[in-house]
Amino acid sequence: MPRIAYVNGRYVRHADAAVHIEDRGYQFADGVYEVCEISGGFIMDMTRHLDRLDRSLRELKIDWPLHRRALEFVMREVVRRNGVRDGLVYLQVTRGVAPRDHAFPPPGIRPALVVTAKRVAPHIAAMRAESGVKVITVPENRWERVDIKTVGLLPNVLAKQKAREEGAAEAWFVDNEGFVTEGSSTNAWIVTADGKLVTRPAELGILRGVTRTTLMDVAAKLNLDVQERAFLVEEAKGAREAFITSATSVVTPVVEIDGQTVANGRPGSVALSLRQAFFDVAEKLPAC
Ligand code: PMP
Repeated sequence: MPRIAYVNGRYVRHADAAVHIEDRGYQFADGVYEVCEISGGFIMDMTRHLDRLDRSLRELKIDWPLHRRALEFVMREVVRRNGVRDGLVYLQVTRGVAPRDHAFPPPGIRPALVVTAKRVAPHIAAMRAESGVKVITVPENRWERVDIKTVGLLPNVLAKQKAREEGAAEAWFVDNEGFVTEGSSTNAWIVTADGKLVTRPAELGILRGVTRTTLMDVAAKLNLDVQERAFLVEEAKGAREAFITSATSVVTPVVEIDGQTVANGRPGSVALSLRQAFFDVAEKLPAC
């Protein structure tokens, strides 16, 4: 079965899928995106992902490329045409194609939409969760509007690459005062000695992860307290547990930070039970 992508109104072979050289996403990173996990034939948390897309688009004054219902249909259709039961669906909306000029194009330029889907074997994330992952820290060097899920991800790309080169799975950005903001593609959490979950407030300086939001519901179900406050790298290194969240990794324990072992160097029980309960609590809509 050939991979199929949706590009501006057409379903095309993935290998042939292309956008115009003057797409503003390509020229200026003038666009936004979302990634939803597909698990066991369900799209996870689609409502929250599309609500966040709506917010990102509004913040950048980009119109919806299609009605929301139509976009949901296209997402399902791309999942169906690619036969994805476990994996992810990716969507990207840019301000469209126009002669290169920094200012917005004149009214009437249609936003561009690309939707792709890919299979990911579920045991890959499960194995990472079982062994736990290493993170490194890097100075926060992103712009202030990281609450908008834009495709402008160069600092994130460089941070993730540095992590890879140092044998780690993720890089945590650290602000001027030594507080962790978030990972290059994940939110950061710790568990305190008395069992409280701590994660940075999402009002400023991080992306409000959909997994982060749903995990608050999971925590409530498991009677765990959540404190939304910033934490220092030092507090994380001395924490009972640390973990990261994202749509594709769900909950993944962190067992080492900058070469220093967290607790006994094994995934913590709180992170693992949150991971287990996640599927039951998250919204699950048939993927196709
Ligand atoms: N922070 C950043 C910078 C991210 O790129 C992501 C993943 N898109 C997240 C956090 C986690 O967000 P979500 O749980 O919605 O995948």
